[in-house]
Amino acid sequence: MHVSDCIFCKVVSGEIPASVVASDDECVAFDDISPQAPVHILIVPREHIDSMDKATGSHGPLIGNLMLKAAEIARQRGFADDGYRIVVNTNGDGGQTVFHIHVHLLAGRPFVFPPG
Ligand code: AMP
Ligand code: ZN
Repeated sequence: MHVSDCIFCKVVSGEIPASVVASDDECVAFDDISPQAPVHILIVPREHIDSMDKATGSHGPLIGNLMLKAAEIARQRGFADDGYRIVVNTNGDGGQTVFHIHVHLLAGRPFVFPPG
């Protein structure tokens, strides 16, 4: 379902331009507009889900596929062996700012743990 005031629904529909790096019938992957690492890609489902907090059992395969897409992009782009970080910020303390569920794929530098 397209949510009219959602930035990522607009990216999915093409209403807002993005640097798309991969796309299939379930998801779209594009460069983050404010990259926090040399590689910073967002993987978003075409279906609008607000956040992990709103995901239910029926979303399991879709959310799993977002992770698998991140791993596939990492292999295709050649940084899988060096490593990468997958992040899903959720609600306020999690640092979520866009309420259309998305996976951050970060790579190209080492990452500390725990994150800040
Ligand atoms: P989060 O804080 O986890 O909700 O992540 C939202 C991310 O979306 C941030 O890293 C933003 O830089 C990114 N972002 C916001 N608007 C756009 C856009 N139009 N195109 C690409 N990335 C965006
Ligand atoms: Zn949306």
